[in-house]
Amino acid sequence: MWSVDEHLADILERVRPLEPIELKLLDAQGCVLVEDVTVPVALPPFDNSSMDGYAVRAADVAGASEGHPVVLKVIGDVAAGSGRLPKVGPGQAARIMTGAPLPPGAETVIPVEWTDGGSGAGPATGMRAHSAAPEGAGGQVRVHRGAEAGRHVRRRGSDVGAGELALPAGTVLGPTQIGLLAAIGRATVTVRPRPRVVVLSTGSELVPPGEELTPGRIHDSNSFQLTAAARDAGAIAYRVGAVADDADTLRSTIDDQLVRADAIVTSGGVSVGAYDVVKEAMDEVDFRKLAMQPGKPQGFGKVGPDGIPLLALPGNPVSAYVSFELFVRPVIRTLLGLPSVHRTTVRAVCTEGIASSPAGRRQFLRGWYAPETGAEGGPARGTVTPVGGAGSHLVKALAHANALIVIEEDATEVAPGTELDVVLLG
Ligand code: AMP
Ligand code: MG
Repeated sequence: MWSVDEHLADILERVRPLEPIELKLLDAQGCVLVEDVTVPVALPPFDNSSMDGYAVRAADVAGASEGHPVVLKVIGDVAAGSGRLPKVGPGQAARIMTGAPLPPGAETVIPVEWTDGGSGAGPATGMRAHSAAPEGAGGQVRVHRGAEAGRHVRRRGSDVGAGELALPAGTVLGPTQIGLLAAIGRATVTVRPRPRVVVLSTGSELVPPGEELTPGRIHDSNSFQLTAAARDAGAIAYRVGAVADDADTLRSTIDDQLVRADAIVTSGGVSVGAYDVVKEAMDEVDFRKLAMQPGKPQGFGKVGPDGIPLLALPGNPVSAYVSFELFVRPVIRTLLGLPSVHRTTVRAVCTEGIASSPAGRRQFLRGWYAPETGAEGGPARGTVTPVGGAGSHLVKALAHANALIVIEEDATEVAPGTELDVVLLG
């Protein structure tokens, strides 16, 4: 018998992060950056206005007040994206929009709310016929509040300067990191790609959901559950579906899948029954008995010319899922090159007693974890309540659980109020 930890250590020792490739930004979501990304051009790339208003010289508006407004001549409009900028001289103002470049001569922006809104100018912007006067020119604006130089101006490089580090290698790319990369003009990045995980289930009794059950048959739930779990762990998952209990068919199906797989997950056919097809078909895989419940029979090996890791999970749906969480998820996250490959484990107080637990085996019961709320002072400690029983066929209870309750090998029962480890399921 192998312990859970020994089996996991053996697997992770034989799995390496995938080689980096260059991906388009959105294809790199959830991936780990392997390059230091520096900023080619400062952000913002030019001084620009943070308000809709008037770009002016600070000295011109220094004494402006409600009682003594300053009247400035409006010499033109500056919209976001404007390339041609009017020069703002003494006694002049340029109407400016948020994000538009600060025109030469101007030092500060007076928000439109601090003015009378201007008068006499033509329509704001847009496609106007070519004319000698710049767009928006010709009117005047009364300013009733001053502003010092630099007010309402976002300085070039105030976000990040040219040559600075935007993101260090090792960063996991989420939405805001992808936003930053786009903002500095990067269209592609070098990352470790998402692993491609092929999921197939075995069993001649299996019928896809949507098809009618004939006597003795059941729906194939594992291939769906495990594909979803692989995706959730960060993989690109391919669900092959159920393969009948025939070793040659299974072998050729797996061989066909190798070209698109960075890892393969099978379910079923690993115990000691007469039709344990994965055992029969996969010579390269080591099949073991683990000191755990559920999930005692497990297989792991490397298959095909490229040595693709294959994890053979037991067929009972709860066993398959628990095995995925314990062994496959860490493999996917290792392939991704992520710094933390395991689910979070916390200590929690078990609200109910558990009458019996198998001696010498680590048990993973399904539970509902509730974080501690409202307690004042002291360490936060949540509670956990078992959901459903120990049976590894109880998929409804599994679907209503948010945690795995860990009962250590040496415990044979749990008294109510006992503190134990709880694996949080996302
Ligand atoms: P096995 O390990 O193949 O003997 O399967 C153990 C139990 O899990 C049997 O009751 C199977 O019918 C069931 N089982 C196996 N594969 C699946 C699957 N893909 N979906 C649902 N149940 C399954
Ligand atoms: Mg089977």
